[in-house]
Amino acid sequence: MANLLVAFLAVVSLWLTAFVVIQAVAAWRRWRGTRVITCPENRKPAAVDLDLGFAVRGAVLGRPELRLRDCSRWPEKQGCGQMCLAQVEESPQSCLVRAMLDRFYEGKRCVYCRRAFGPIRWHDNKPGLRSPEGGLREWVEIVPETLPDVLRTHQPVCWNCLVAEGFRISFPDLVVERPHGAGGFRPPEPCGLQRPRA
Ligand SMILES: [Zn+2]
Repeated sequence: MANLLVAFLAVVSLWLTAFVVIQAVAAWRRWRGTRVITCPENRKPAAVDLDLGFAVRGAVLGRPELRLRDCSRWPEKQGCGQMCLAQVEESPQSCLVRAMLDRFYEGKRCVYCRRAFGPIRWHDNKPGLRSPEGGLREWVEIVPETLPDVLRTHQPVCWNCLVAEGFRISFPDLVVERPHGAGGFRPPEPCGLQRPRA
């Protein structure tokens, strides 16, 4: 009888542990990442991060509440009512910075080589942007709260062209432009870059 009781308690413990872990991981995956929302106070974009520990504890305890850990308008507006959380709860995925970037590249072609973008590999070979002035920008330079403006005004650049064109801009004396056809478009690899012969 005692053995049966021990086995029963072990099964219950395992089940509870699995439940807690599953809830915690699901909450962590759901609420992680920087998001861009429209600040209800000034109606302008702001970048926010959720308090993940609070969200995970709430999910495990059956208290699904959220609060901010950081906002681009803090510390000036740190005492705000965090009304923007309604936007996060309403569409937690669509306001994620990563999701916004994926949507930006989806179905587009590189402005230089015209290759279509496939799934973006954000851990390496990240694509970049061409500004309206013709400069190249990497995503590490972009402040999240400026994302809506940037996505509206910049053009997509693939990683190959980001590297090659960046080299061409930085070292114009080392670049020889290959003649290209009437279409006027340079091939992406090696993007017309050649070291001049000595
Ligand atoms: Zn390209």
